[in-house]
Amino acid sequence: MSKDSNRPHPHNHLFGKKVKPKNWASTIKRIGSYFSDQKFLLSLVLLMVIISSALSLLGPFLIGMAIDSYIVKENIEGLNKLLLGLIFVFVGQSLSTWLQNYWMIGIAQDTVLKMRNDLFNQFHRLSISFFDKRQHGELMSRVTNDIENVSSTLNSSFIQVFSSILTLVGTVGVMIYLSPILTLISLSIVPLMFFGLKWITKRTGARFKEQQRNLGEINGYIEEITSGQRIVKSFSQEKRVMEEFMAKNERLRESGYWAQTFSGFIPKLMNVLNNGSFALIAGIGGVLALNGKVSIGVIVIFVEYSRQFTRPLNDLANQFNTLLSAVAGAERVFEILDESQEEMDETGATELSAVKGKVEFRDVSFSYEKDEKTVSDLSFSVNEGETVALVGPTGAGKTTIVNLLSRFYESDSGQILIDGHDIKKVKRSSLRSHMGFVLQDSFLFEGTILENIRYGRLNATDEEVVNAAKLANAHSFVQKLPKGYKTILNQEGSGISQGQKQLLSIARAILADPSLLILDEATSSIDTITEMKIQEALQRLMQGRTSFVIAHRLNTIQQADQILVLHDGGILEKGTHEELLKNKKFYHSLYHSQLKQDA
Ligand code: ADP
Repeated sequence: MSKDSNRPHPHNHLFGKKVKPKNWASTIKRIGSYFSDQKFLLSLVLLMVIISSALSLLGPFLIGMAIDSYIVKENIEGLNKLLLGLIFVFVGQSLSTWLQNYWMIGIAQDTVLKMRNDLFNQFHRLSISFFDKRQHGELMSRVTNDIENVSSTLNSSFIQVFSSILTLVGTVGVMIYLSPILTLISLSIVPLMFFGLKWITKRTGARFKEQQRNLGEINGYIEEITSGQRIVKSFSQEKRVMEEFMAKNERLRESGYWAQTFSGFIPKLMNVLNNGSFALIAGIGGVLALNGKVSIGVIVIFVEYSRQFTRPLNDLANQFNTLLSAVAGAERVFEILDESQEEMDETGATELSAVKGKVEFRDVSFSYEKDEKTVSDLSFSVNEGETVALVGPTGAGKTTIVNLLSRFYESDSGQILIDGHDIKKVKRSSLRSHMGFVLQDSFLFEGTILENIRYGRLNATDEEVVNAAKLANAHSFVQKLPKGYKTILNQEGSGISQGQKQLLSIARAILADPSLLILDEATSSIDTITEMKIQEALQRLMQGRTSFVIAHRLNTIQQADQILVLHDGGILEKGTHEELLKNKKFYHSLYHSQLKQDA
């Protein structure tokens, strides 16, 4: 047993927030289904646990026998034989403990490997609406923390709980068999232990909670300050920040000090109680032995057993909480696995072959939440190769139209047709393969620039990638980078500017060569030269493709074949730039107010 196992673990939920699984039985059963193909190995593990528990009972018993039958009777030959037996018992015990751990680790790692794969796979099957509703961090925590929790519990706690119960029952059974009176004396410390621990943990619990809270606070503060370092420096707030940090740090020290001090009492208490029971057994046992009621050997067995018996009691109390939090963790993982997946393609859904690019919305209505219509009775059509600009205030429904067209969300009624085909009767993947996206926040993967552009079409040659980059006006800046196309980008694309990221995503779209384009114009300020480069590249990209442009600035869409002015999910006006200006309605005022802002 490790020295500290009597100490409450800060993550243990006797002391912190209780994480209770909602449905124990079915969750455990489901975890069990993960090792259904490991039944053989699992039964070996259980067998080893039984053997090692039995041997741990047998050891002290043999020592008692050695005293009573051989040492007292001075039978050296018998004693030697028994010692040999004792060696076998100890070796056997170590071996079975080692084997059970070894096999169990295999089972545990296999199980969480499967869980992690299942979970990650599920992410691809879930609809975009699932991700829209959740935070990254929360999902990350499922894949990492929750699964890790299951893993570490399966690694050790699972066996420990089982073996603790066996050892406990076995020890008490043999004790009663040997001497009911001594058993009663040994067990007398149990209530003391129970109330003593309760008294201490109640106090430590509060301290640990406080420590956790302070730790959380300080972590949050560090994160905030490191990511906002630029602001701290530019407002010369270093001194104030340092003072705040020192105060938080002091609070953490204080709560940590008391939490550790109090929890340090636990092993002391256990020690005192153990020694007390040792004294009682030795004292009362001695009197009984003098009266011929028990043998010396039995007293020795009891001394050993009473030690052996507080340990599993303690382990059980500790492991139970770990087990609880692991089951709760598994439950959270299963919750995601049970989330409804993106609807399957309808039976008989077809592949959309070569797309020319005529798009038609017929009376399309849609709502994200049940009772509020986001888009209602939307009808418009776009001819092959045309550019449509979607204009309107934030929340007007521009993104929603694009979400419906790409079937990230399904319309509630009406039809969306591409070249006359209802998109609901087409396979999603086939629909999306004809679409290209250049979004505001161009997403880059960790990898080289070459790989990032090639994501548009995986079988493109290096030459094709470079050509796409040239058309996207990205080639010249890429070439100037020390490692050129081999430059490694991280997710944030740090090292290159926002505008350059946009150029790379244009190159990616050019390479993909889709018939339909979705462009979400960048709102963030980009310098005029890059802005011009982007506009030029976009014009090239849009050539001959049906394009939907979510426009934030009206000066870039004057060439659009059609402008849809949206408001509250409906079309307020539609026409070309000139037509709409002549109308002198919403677009007209929007245009003039932007002109003023830019002036
Ligand atoms: P725009 O792109 O024009 O700014 P959106 O299409 O994003 O507007 O939003 C239209 C409306 O739908 C807004 O009222 C917005 O709050 C709501 N909305 C957008 N996305 C979601 C979502 N995932 N869940 C619920 N409501 C949403």
